[in-house]
Amino acid sequence: MTTSTTYYDLRLLIGGEAILASARQSLPVEDPSTREEIGRLPIATDDDLQRALESAARGFARWRATSAYDRANVLRGAARLIRERLEAIARILTLEEGKPIVESRLEVQAAADIIEWCGEEGRRAYGRVVPARSTAVRQTVLREPVGPVAAFTPWNFPAVTPARKLAGALGAGCSIVIKPSEETPATALALVDALRDAGLPEDVVNVVFGDPPHISETLLASPVIRKISFTGSIAVGKHLAGLAAKGLKRATLELGGHAPVIVSAKADLGKAVAMSASSKYRNAGQVCVSPSRFFVQDGIFADFVEAFTKKASSLRIGHGLDETTQMSSLANERRREGIAALVDDAKQRGGTIRTGGERLESNGFFYAPTVITDVPPAARVLSEEPFGPVAVITRFTELDEAIAQANALPYALAAYAFTQDVSESIRLGNEIEAGMIGINQFGIAFAELPFGGIKDSGYGSEGGVEGLDGYMITKSVTVA
Ligand code: NAD
Repeated sequence: MTTSTTYYDLRLLIGGEAILASARQSLPVEDPSTREEIGRLPIATDDDLQRALESAARGFARWRATSAYDRANVLRGAARLIRERLEAIARILTLEEGKPIVESRLEVQAAADIIEWCGEEGRRAYGRVVPARSTAVRQTVLREPVGPVAAFTPWNFPAVTPARKLAGALGAGCSIVIKPSEETPATALALVDALRDAGLPEDVVNVVFGDPPHISETLLASPVIRKISFTGSIAVGKHLAGLAAKGLKRATLELGGHAPVIVSAKADLGKAVAMSASSKYRNAGQVCVSPSRFFVQDGIFADFVEAFTKKASSLRIGHGLDETTQMSSLANERRREGIAALVDDAKQRGGTIRTGGERLESNGFFYAPTVITDVPPAARVLSEEPFGPVAVITRFTELDEAIAQANALPYALAAYAFTQDVSESIRLGNEIEAGMIGINQFGIAFAELPFGGIKDSGYGSEGGVEGLDGYMITKSVTVA
């Protein structure tokens, strides 16, 4: 399939000015499924970054003075425009990230939901009146926007991750300088265009691209920035938390995970297999909440492995723009190399490859849907986040054992379990350590639910009634 049709006008957005690739040094953007160059991305100069910071300071003064009602109208309007433009944005998303178009449509829809939700939540960012010790005193607690935000988003969810950060910041009344991934820049620009078309004032959002460490160091060193929000790897998250700490800036960090799935012998086996296999290979496993360590109880282990392997090996692999594709390429060669290294290590240590375990012949970054069993505990794939189309299935006897293994890693973002037994469900919900737990289903990431991890998976929530908290300060005002 050729993809060389229109992509998007890639640009920086600084102080309301669009700066095209022709005006700056530029980077290529590729379709990961064909490796064709689809666009050129301009790189921000140091002067651009300084201007973005000055613009964000102006934008904050303007946006915080806008009523929550008017801010909500802009966000709601943007959500409507994104829904109207859904097909075009989904296509851009698939072109630059690779995921099947069906998944891109759902992601763009989710981005619109998040933007709408945060606009509405901004209208409900209530303070409170606290009874005072004297009737002559009025004690109030106000919630106010924290200030200009610097946000950094990854390539795996080019619509939802920028939407979470844009919407949280804007819903709370903050301005934002956002650096989306250089590998998937157009989807974020399309969201920003919808916000501007819906009436977002100049200076409230600035968009920059370039060398990520240089940009984050420059923005976080500036006194203008009062908060950072990052989604990406744990290593980079810890580095950014350190930079934020130097300036005592608030941080929301949504880092990786290695989600366990405990399948009890009391589960509905057909449902557990069907849901697990489709969730595992969504976006070729490049999902921070992707199920990746399966613990299946004696008694159903062999049947689960057989049925899961059959589903994995029958997935239709192809270009994401093909409507029939069920799994497409990985988003970059780093990911494919990473997956190959983890699978080879598991194989060398005695793991059994039930299906897959190899790169697929193509110009793009394709890797086969893979299932591995008999993996010894020391194998890297059991402790390092795979972030790819690999399922490791391990047998257990007692639930205690499975819960202990689920909780054994430093990551704790998402976790899942399947059981029809009510007591087991309650126990699993209580005892698994994770920021989000899905029991008998994988649907955990909706605008109305808090999204975030604990332990090394980061801190802070995006979404839910908690979603605006990270972008707001608490101020008490007492009047006598
Ligand atoms: P990475 O952490 O190097 O990059 C992730 C994103 O962070 C990219 O968009 C990158 O441009 C940006 N980034 C990198 N260094 C930065 C810095 N110093 N300052 C600001 N932004 C910076 O990860 P990667 O190589 O793209 O992927 C490696 C691993 O990261 C994956 O295997 C996965 O474990 C994890 N990851 C997690 C998520 C998630 O949703 N939590 C998303 C992408 C990657």
